[in-house]
Amino acid sequence: MLNIVIFGAPGSGKGTQSERIVEKYGINHISTGDVLRAEIKAGTELGKTAKGYIDQGQLLPDELIIDILASTLDGLKDSKGVIFDGFPRTIAQADALKKMLAERKQAVTVMLDLEVPEDELMKRLILRGQQSGRADDNEETIRKRLTVYHSQTAPLIDWYKQEGLYTHINGLGELERITEDICKAIDQAYNK
Ligand code: ADP
Repeated sequence: MLNIVIFGAPGSGKGTQSERIVEKYGINHISTGDVLRAEIKAGTELGKTAKGYIDQGQLLPDELIIDILASTLDGLKDSKGVIFDGFPRTIAQADALKKMLAERKQAVTVMLDLEVPEDELMKRLILRGQQSGRADDNEETIRKRLTVYHSQTAPLIDWYKQEGLYTHINGLGELERITEDICKAIDQAYNK
C-alpha cells in the first residue's frame, strides 16, 4: 500500500501533481476540497455547511472533515493506495489519519511538501479564480486562506518531520521537473 500525503499552501499545485501521480502509480486520489465542492454542487446539507466555511476561507471543523475522510476511505475497494490531497490540514487531522490507517494495518508512506513562494501563490490563485470561477479564489479569501495555512496547517511540517516522513519538494518551475522530483521521493520512501 502506498499512502501519500501531498502537502502545501493553497495554489502550490497539489491537485495537478496528484493527477499525475494517480496515473503513474494507479492509486486513488482523495481531495477533500473536491469532495466538498461536489457536495455543494449536489445541494446537500453537508454542502451547505461546507460552503459557509469555504467562502470565508476558513477550515471546516476537524470532527466533520475527519468523518468525511473516513467514509471516503471506506468507500474505496481494492485500492493500491491513496494520495491524500488537502488532508490533513491540522495536527488533529494528522493524528486522526495516523489512527485511521493504523486500524487498517497501514501507514503514511511519505509526506511531500510542495513549497512555492507566497507572491507566486497569489498570482496562481488569482489566475485560477479568473479562469475557473472558483468562488474562494478571490483576493480577499485567498489572503485569509494563506493566513489559515500559516497558523493551522504549516505546523504539520514539524509534525511530519518528527514522524520521519517529511520530504521537501521545490514547487516552483517546470511541471514535469516537479513530477520527477515527486516520483523520486515516492520511490525512495517506498523502497526504504
Ligand atoms: P486549496 O486550493 O485552498 O488548497 P482545497 O480545494 O484543498 O483548496 O480546499 C478548499 C477549501 O475546502 C478550504 O479552504 C477549506 O475551507 C475546505 N477544506 C478542504 N480540506 C479541508 C480539511 N482537511 N480541513 C478543513 N477544511 C478543509
